[in-house]
Amino acid sequence: MTQRARIVPSSRLRRFGAAALVAAAIVIGTIADRPRPHQEITLGGYRVLAADFHTHSSTWSDGSLTPWGLVIDAWYQGLDAIAITGHRQTLDAKWGRWFSERTGGPIVLVGEELPEIPHHVIAVGIGRTVDSALPIAEQIAEIHRQGGIAIAAHPGDFFWSGFAPVMDQLDGTEVCHPFTLEYPDAHPELEEFARRANAAAIGSSDFHGPGRQGMCRTFVFVREVSAEGILEAIRAKRTVVYGGPAATAYGDPQLIQIAEADGRLREMASTEYPVSVLDRISQILGIVGFALVILPLYSQRERLKPTNNARLATTIVPSAMKYPYFQCSSGMLVKFIP
Ligand SMILES: [Zn+2]
Ligand SMILES: [Zn+2]
Repeated sequence: MTQRARIVPSSRLRRFGAAALVAAAIVIGTIADRPRPHQEITLGGYRVLAADFHTHSSTWSDGSLTPWGLVIDAWYQGLDAIAITGHRQTLDAKWGRWFSERTGGPIVLVGEELPEIPHHVIAVGIGRTVDSALPIAEQIAEIHRQGGIAIAAHPGDFFWSGFAPVMDQLDGTEVCHPFTLEYPDAHPELEEFARRANAAAIGSSDFHGPGRQGMCRTFVFVREVSAEGILEAIRAKRTVVYGGPAATAYGDPQLIQIAEADGRLREMASTEYPVSVLDRISQILGIVGFALVILPLYSQRERLKPTNNARLATTIVPSAMKYPYFQCSSGMLVKFIP
């Protein structure tokens, strides 16, 4: 009784301190966070839209943001359009489009990723799910039948044999992908594939959670600001993308010339994200807050010996006696050692 009385107040104090620090981190981080600027850019007689055609959400895919979270984040990242591309399904995208249409968000194109070995195909502008079990030529034919476009996803050399039969049927190919920012040696593979494919240059973030949406983005030169306008521009290869370690410009040579003379697209494509003092304070408070939660768990694990299991189990979570794993008070999963 006396031991329990000593444990409870100190752990309550720690939990309160941790919650206060994490809350302060969230508030300060939110205040410090500034959306990337939205610019209405017209170049060469076209409206230029910043788009990310490869994003994953958490609802039916393996991303960490909900479809509506993706839409809000896309706006924050200065994007005019996104394609939500769940694995083998289009439901995430339809939910995202529904939300964005009602909130005045970016254009959301319904898409999916058909992730088979040895080829990952991004379908954009489709109405219903395409069967990923089909041979790749039939997948692409079905995408086209639905009025969509087919993009080769992260076509490193591992995927080349898979795309070989359909090189002349691709509408786009990713020539900027975040994995080449981390592994610059792989970038020439995307570059070489783009040379062979002769499709529109595409930059996509393949956003799952880490990194940022629009980190690799496609500038689409549209005649009409709409989903159909974007698809038409890609079919006509009117895109510019900055990719690779040197931020090389890819796409329509004439449009690249216009964009380079202007300079704004290169600036918008920058992967540099300034970190302010408030950002740093938010990070430190958050780390300390989580450390207050996590570190005591290690010492608890040390104390989880056969002799005191029963006491800890009854003190912390009674259900621990029944299950091999239990959820402790801080929300972390801790293994129970019987
Ligand atoms: Zn993929
Ligand atoms: Zn993906």
